[in-house]
Amino acid sequence: MATIFTKILRGEIPGEILYQDDHVFAIRDLDPKAPVHILIITKSEIPGMATVEVAGDHMHIVNAARAIGEQLGLVGGYRLVINQGADAGQSVPHLHAHLLAGRPLTGDFA
Ligand code: AMP
Repeated sequence: MATIFTKILRGEIPGEILYQDDHVFAIRDLDPKAPVHILIITKSEIPGMATVEVAGDHMHIVNAARAIGEQLGLVGGYRLVINQGADAGQSVPHLHAHLLAGRPLTGDFA
């Protein structure tokens, strides 16, 4: 069954796609932890960091983060976080990074 993120990509459930390229797409997080909270998601349904088979998948996320940072003019900086597994609180088993910005980012990200 498709993940919630794949359903957004396909337009089956609502979600504005802010950025996409051949490998990843980006949406705003439903429950933002910062003024800017964007999810950068692989188009392939890779379950998470621990199951990435192609090393390039990580770089596609990082490259997209840089492009989004420039697109949104995040000159003050941003943080990129990937949760892997239960201890990190990963709730959607589809590889994604959280891009956080718009306030000073201190402490843990939960
Ligand atoms: P993680 O806990 O790292 O797996 O992150 C999953 C994130 O997906 C959480 O921050 C949720 O708020 C977010 N999320 C879940 N469903 C949606 C949705 N339909 N649209 C946007 N963000 C979502």
